[in-house]
Amino acid sequence: MNKPKIVILGAGYGGMMVASRLQKSTVVKDAEVTLVNKHNYHYQTTWLHEPAAGTMHHDKTRMKIDSVIDTKKVNFIKDTVVKIDRDQKKVELENAVLDYDYLVLGLGSIPETFGIPGVQEHAFAIRSVNSVRLIKEHMEYQFASYNKQEEKPEGMLNIVVAGAGFTGIEFVGELTERVPELCEEYDIPRDKVRLLSVEAAPTALPGFDEELVEYAMNILESRGVEFKINTPIKEVREDGVLLNDDSFIKSNTIVWTTGVRGNPVVEESGFDAMRGRIKVDKDLRAPGHEDIFVIGDCALIINEETDRPYPPTAQIAIQQSYTCANNLKALVEGKSELEQFKPDIKGTVASLGGKEAIGVVGSRKLYGNSASAVKKMIDNRYLFLLGGMPLVLKKGKLKMF
Ligand code: FAD
Ligand code: NAD
Repeated sequence: MNKPKIVILGAGYGGMMVASRLQKSTVVKDAEVTLVNKHNYHYQTTWLHEPAAGTMHHDKTRMKIDSVIDTKKVNFIKDTVVKIDRDQKKVELENAVLDYDYLVLGLGSIPETFGIPGVQEHAFAIRSVNSVRLIKEHMEYQFASYNKQEEKPEGMLNIVVAGAGFTGIEFVGELTERVPELCEEYDIPRDKVRLLSVEAAPTALPGFDEELVEYAMNILESRGVEFKINTPIKEVREDGVLLNDDSFIKSNTIVWTTGVRGNPVVEESGFDAMRGRIKVDKDLRAPGHEDIFVIGDCALIINEETDRPYPPTAQIAIQQSYTCANNLKALVEGKSELEQFKPDIKGTVASLGGKEAIGVVGSRKLYGNSASAVKKMIDNRYLFLLGGMPLVLKKGKLKMF
């Protein structure tokens, strides 16, 4: 009898952890497991604000997939997913077509532009190793070119971060560390550089603990960040951003961090979706599709206490990978009763650059150094779950304080 084919799309937090769980189980004997990803490496999206600012080398955030996944047990295909044909149970890749019996959709997300004109053309995004390398190189080029200009163009060293959600705040935090280094390196007075955090809502980090938000804003302001709160951006142009009140901020560097939507493959494959995310059943399958699991940023689950979707996070993607792997094992073994997924939110910790961070873990609020150490522990914990102590030692954040 032919073995069932399990195809995992995307080697992000969700996909890598499903593959890693399956390779440790009997599933790899009873089924043919294939992992597909557009790069031959896995990167940690949650670290990308650091290489984007230039405070960490991008290689630290990534690892070769075959250094963690045993390709004798799990086939790996480096290719880009174009579309899923649900009726034929096939996945169209750029260079091949794959059949599946069970599919895991874990292709992550893309930046949400809300259709705002000019974002695609003129703004940078913190999304992948390639996209953050570009931000770093672009900023360095602006600094390197500045002193070459007889007449310094206005806004050449203004860096606009659109959105003061967690990504925007973590990125400006890193910039407060990096900009003084760039000024020193390129002989530019610090007061020639503006760091602007532009947020549509009445506060930075809307919905987060107010005391911690105030702490974060005070720290960042003391390091030179200018907040423009209650200020939606309505257009991005080559030379800056147009605000809702029609004022214009000149800038050569605009980084767009106003939230995410599910990978476009979801909608292009005809799934019912909200902002590219499929509202999954409790066992993580797409409604009406007993053979398709959806995890990570492509999946939408509702917090029953608030009746609102959980924000897409690595924390949830990792937890979903356990349920998904268990359910795949059950199906391969011919069982019909599947595990129900229930998120267990441990908290949220955000870095502010250097040794500063804020967070809530359980009911405890964390500030400063201790929050920063907890953040590093969270980062290291993932590496431990994925590749054990050797991976922590190779790629982890070992300097705690
Ligand atoms: P991802 O980890 O994004 O992986 C998707 C994978 O799919 C990638 O390998 C990508 O290359 C691949 N892929 C995409 N399209 C294709 C295609 N067409 N074909 C083939 N392969 C494809 N969450 C937290 O819980 N804690 C944090 O501290 C935190 N910090 C963050 C910091 C930043 C700067 C950002 C941007 C996000 C942060 N998040 C955090 C959110 C978290 O990163 C995401 O929720 C998480 O990465 C989602 O995991 P995933 O497996 O769905 O997708
Ligand atoms: P987000 O939705 O958390 O924040 C986006 C921000 O952009 C919001 O504050 C929103 O009001 C603002 N915004 C929207 N449109 C705007 C406009 N036109 N002009 C100005 N501001 C605008 O999204 P994110 O920060 O990109 O994060 C994406 C996901 O990743 C979230 O689920 C987040 O929780 C998660 N994340 C978590 C961490 C962490 O836990 N440390 C860090 C980064 C990201």
